Amino acid sequence: EETYSFVIAANRLPVDRHVGPDGEQEWRRSPGGLVTAMDSVMRGREGAAWVGWAGEPGEAPEPFEDSGMHLHPVALSEQEVTDYYEGFSNDTLWPIYHDVIVPATFHRRWWEAYLRVNKRFAEAVAKVSDQGATVWVHDYQLQLVPRFLRELRPDLRIGWFNHIPFPPVELFAQLPWRGQLIDGLLGADYLGFQRSADAGNFLRAARQLRGLSTKGEVVRADDDRRVRASALPISIDFAALDEMARRPDVIERAKEIRSQLGDPEVLMLGVDRLDYTKGIRHRLKAYQELLAEGHYSPPEVSLVQVAVPSRERVDAYRRLKDQIEGTVGQINGEYSTVGAAAVHYLHQSFDRAEMAAMYLAADICLVTPLRDGMNLVAKEYVTCRHDLGGALVLSEFTGAAHELNAAYLHNPHDIQGLKNTIVRAVEAQPTEKRRRMRSLRRRVREHDVQRWAERFLQALESAPERPTGTPS
Ligand code: UDP
Repeated sequence: EETYSFVIAANRLPVDRHVGPDGEQEWRRSPGGLVTAMDSVMRGREGAAWVGWAGEPGEAPEPFEDSGMHLHPVALSEQEVTDYYEGFSNDTLWPIYHDVIVPATFHRRWWEAYLRVNKRFAEAVAKVSDQGATVWVHDYQLQLVPRFLRELRPDLRIGWFNHIPFPPVELFAQLPWRGQLIDGLLGADYLGFQRSADAGNFLRAARQLRGLSTKGEVVRADDDRRVRASALPISIDFAALDEMARRPDVIERAKEIRSQLGDPEVLMLGVDRLDYTKGIRHRLKAYQELLAEGHYSPPEVSLVQVAVPSRERVDAYRRLKDQIEGTVGQINGEYSTVGAAAVHYLHQSFDRAEMAAMYLAADICLVTPLRDGMNLVAKEYVTCRHDLGGALVLSEFTGAAHELNAAYLHNPHDIQGLKNTIVRAVEAQPTEKRRRMRSLRRRVREHDVQRWAERFLQALESAPERPTGTPS
């Protein structure tokens, strides 16, 4: 196997296997934002490799080339999918890193699988990396990779980016393996976070739980290396999505969506993975009360809620799905009329063009997470509104709120406050809405995903070097 000067490690490879009707198989690119971001990084590089799980348990496929990249699959057994991925990543770390909205579950067996799988990822990266290569490790599933990798390959330059929040030390301290996680991350040269508060939480954890000293954004690790931790909020490919939303077929489809919904005066839209962090219940509660109080009624008002199926083997997600579907049923039972549903609930996933059409059709986009590392839906919505129409109702507890302060910001725990914010957004003067939308679009245009990736790599290149020979 060849080696590469630039290597990405992420839980998933950027492709999914599709099997056709005749049993022939092909790899298709997954549509995620990370894949798009990395594309622009890959351009102008000689060779790059991506190390990740191919999405199916059992033996890993042989390494292969796809979309100009060397893809190196890492194997996960059925049990490891349960323990490392669904267990430790999604039922231990995810709740702790999202303010314990649901309680976290701790199992030593899950941790052991996490350790083992992280080691396997590090070994795979070590194998495909050139001397002195740059390695970019992604997200909370791979927090031990930087350290394992440095032990195997001290010549590499290692960066890590956390796509989700990093919790306050009081919550992080609950993790029985908190020390190992910090040490794992400190194997990197540079650590990137969505918000400066997340970077601050990490620096505080390193001080309080590991007794390390920090100076500004830089931690002094046990082996005397300096590791920098700072904020670098992720974004989207503004130009590509803006272009898509200007396509005549997409504009036509947006009109069609509105007319199929009976041309409501106010079309509200929610788009989320079905996750307890997204505040879907709070959003439905606010909407239900607005209907109950007679502020709005179908068919003049309609809510489309896209809830993409997610993590259905984890208990908390199954319970959430039941709760949400119960509430949607209640709302529709009480407030729908023949031919006009109060809530259009879509437990499905849509492609990019259909998403763009929905964004373009919606008067109000409701983004109400209780905690979210970034929330790309918020950035996508404003990117699609080249007509300067629509209004973004955005939770303060998203990374996006720190950049998109021209949105209608709110605290989703405050149901009355959320209701007031929705009413204010609906009733705002068109000039106010346009002014806000223009400002929101400018922010995303000037801070797009290409710029994010460039800045990450710059931060990684200029990360403090190991002090050579000078005692400090
Ligand atoms: N998305 C999609 N189809 C859907 C619903 C959502 O492609 O039917 C995409 C959406 O456009 C966005 C992503 O899923 O790019 C969700 O990202 P976000 O940061 O909002 O939340 P996450 O799911 O990463 O927590």
